[in-house]
Amino acid sequence: MRVLGIEGTAWCASAAVYDSETDDVHIESDPYLPDSGGIHPREAAEHMSDALPSVVDAALSYAEREYGRASIDAVAFSRGPGLGPCLRTAGTAARSLAGSLSVPLVGVNHMVAHLEIGRHRSGFENPICLNASGANAHVLGYHDDRYRVLGETMDTGVGNAIDKFTRHVGWSHPGGPKVEAAAADGEFLELPYVVKGMDFSFSGIMSAAKDRYDEGAPVEDVCFALQEHVFAMLTEVAERALSLTGADELVLGGGVGQNDRLREMLEAMCTQRGASFFAPEPRFLRDNAGMIAVLGAKMAAAGDVVPIRESSVDPNFRPDEVPVTWRPGDES
Ligand code: ATP
Repeated sequence: MRVLGIEGTAWCASAAVYDSETDDVHIESDPYLPDSGGIHPREAAEHMSDALPSVVDAALSYAEREYGRASIDAVAFSRGPGLGPCLRTAGTAARSLAGSLSVPLVGVNHMVAHLEIGRHRSGFENPICLNASGANAHVLGYHDDRYRVLGETMDTGVGNAIDKFTRHVGWSHPGGPKVEAAAADGEFLELPYVVKGMDFSFSGIMSAAKDRYDEGAPVEDVCFALQEHVFAMLTEVAERALSLTGADELVLGGGVGQNDRLREMLEAMCTQRGASFFAPEPRFLRDNAGMIAVLGAKMAAAGDVVPIRESSVDPNFRPDEVPVTWRPGDES
């Protein structure tokens, strides 16, 4: 099966072609990079409508070159969660493409796609998943035909918290890679550490990091401390999820997962408890249409398609709302 995936939840206009026979995933992306400040919803939506046609064109040209005309069997799109205006643009593009290609439409939950790409690439059967992305932070586990939210942020997403600190410092978006680079020269200082049971909070630590910077602490030290605290919180909850469920596999998803220090902490924790750890390559961690196409193929193979009239987007679409209709290997 070959699926055209379309991603349009926020900053990344992306289209991809997935061929389940060869497992080849070809991704075309055009990111929105704000001139100043963070992601502005109106500018992100304008970028989505400007950039989506060319990434879709490039993906379809690739499909035609590699597989010939009429090679797409389904169109999958990110139905949510995300920014409403961006989602609506991507949804409209997906509906019209499914109609013009006369193929089924698949509505994919973006957070489940972040998780499933790790399961797909690792071959893990039943992992715990840590989704560490810009707008979200979830620990998920599969039970009774759904991915259950075992723990999550009580306020802001983990990447958004880091980005708010870097905006305060005057650095351009996205902040995560800049914090990672600066942390290499930093030393530890104390910040709040907030884990409540299986949930975590990032807004207090982000405010405290701003305060420490304003009080004159070297920015490298604040970046180092921010990473150590935030990633230890994520690692603690991921470990508790492994321990409470008895699972012995962990996969990482989301753009913050590109951070070496986070991967190092998770890997060390898994090694210490005899669990396996897998993080997909960076192109599958940050927002991308490849993960939408791969999960779309699994859903389409399971008959989990959506009529166009019922395919409205959902900015608050939670991963635990999705009945899991597919199984590993279903996509071929
Ligand atoms: P979601 O997937 O929840 O909709 P999102 O659309 O913001 O979130 P992602 O692509 O998953 O997108 O993640 C983007 C976030 O990843 C940004 O907040 C960015 O700062 C962060 N990020 C990128 N690289 C790194 C890094 N090396 N270290 C830490 N954070 C990073």
